[in-house]
Amino acid sequence: MKLTIVNSGSIGNCYVLHGAKTNIIIELGVTKNKVLQAIGAKEFKKIDFALVTHEHLDHIKYFNQFKLPIYTSAGTNQVIKRGKNLEENVYKRIGEWAILPFATVHDCRQGFGYLIGNAIQGKSLVFATDTNKMTRLFQGVQYYAVEANYDKYIIETNEGLTPNRKKRIIDNHMEIGSLANWLLKCDLKSIKKIILIHESKANSDPATSKNVIESLVNRPCINTANKMSEVQIIDL
Ligand SMILES: [Zn+2]
Ligand SMILES: [Zn+2]
Repeated sequence: MKLTIVNSGSIGNCYVLHGAKTNIIIELGVTKNKVLQAIGAKEFKKIDFALVTHEHLDHIKYFNQFKLPIYTSAGTNQVIKRGKNLEENVYKRIGEWAILPFATVHDCRQGFGYLIGNAIQGKSLVFATDTNKMTRLFQGVQYYAVEANYDKYIIETNEGLTPNRKKRIIDNHMEIGSLANWLLKCDLKSIKKIILIHESKANSDPATSKNVIESLVNRPCINTANKMSEVQIIDL
């Protein structure tokens, strides 16, 4: 497997997970053109379907540009309307992929994170973004792409935020310390890489976040702090 970070953060989210024969696009918060530029026409043609976590515009804004089946929750589908429903904690096999949706904690209709397994390669990725906390633990998963939105020590001193805005972030997004605490409860032995996504430029320092996770969890950690012009490709 390989993960292309087309873009990550509150400006727009889009990731492509490359499998043995097919690809999944996760989140449709950037234009089709941007995805084509990032991965090229050949990899684009291999995209089998889209997975979407929730209906906020940084995750679905351009969904109409993508003529692909979109799998998501029934709640998110109230907005997208043409998607296919997945059920919380119910495994779904789609081609070479095995998908297990789990609940996130966010101010949306019905947010999902996904455990995504590849039936050909025997590898798996936990993908979770826009959530106050993780709602379950995982065993035997090698790769994690998880939200590391803010650092409580930075957000506390950010005077550019109104009290309401600060509360909204704290209630709905993941703090780097809670991510570390959760990872420490998972099966650390199997973790090969941790990818920090949806990082806030104003409320976190990606270098510090990476150091916090690496020092506590002792596994390689990669930042994806919002770089609109840079595409990151991560081998899984
Ligand atoms: Zn978001
Ligand atoms: Zn959101």
